[in-house]
Amino acid sequence: MSKDVFKGSCHCGAVEFEVSGLPSWTAICHCSICRRTHSAPYAELCAYDDVRITRGESNLSMYNCGGQSKEDRYFCSTCGSKVYSRLNHLGCCAVFLQNFTTPNHGADGEIDPRLKMGCHIFYGSGTVSFYDELDKFETMPKAFGGDGKTLPNDVHG
Ligand SMILES: [Zn+2]
Ligand SMILES: [Zn+2]
Repeated sequence: MSKDVFKGSCHCGAVEFEVSGLPSWTAICHCSICRRTHSAPYAELCAYDDVRITRGESNLSMYNCGGQSKEDRYFCSTCGSKVYSRLNHLGCCAVFLQNFTTPNHGADGEIDPRLKMGCHIFYGSGTVSFYDELDKFETMPKAFGGDGKTLPNDVHG
């Protein structure tokens, strides 16, 4: 296990974070909350026991769906970038693949293969089909408290 320190930031740079080593798991989340809060068809989660905010912690705001969600979603108050989520039900945090600056995932960056996504979750409530080799869980794998049921690639056409 690498103990490289990976760094990232929100888009405007007011908030910076770092994590140690490789994520404990990675997943592409298609749930409706990720889709709407990210304004995107899915979010790429990289799970860590802890995320260190190294700059601009006071610039973070938190959203928790009126207290209904198991997930506390922290975002930059200036630019709106999602910085991390605390997954209270799983006892870990998630940062988002595209926000890493080390390794560089900028406009001209390539995704570091060590941070490759591991599966799709909440694929059943998504809006886009993927034709990769990864498992596509209707909700969540059993290890995350789901029923482990998988769906075919082409559910969304
Ligand atoms: Zn920002
Ligand atoms: Zn989600």
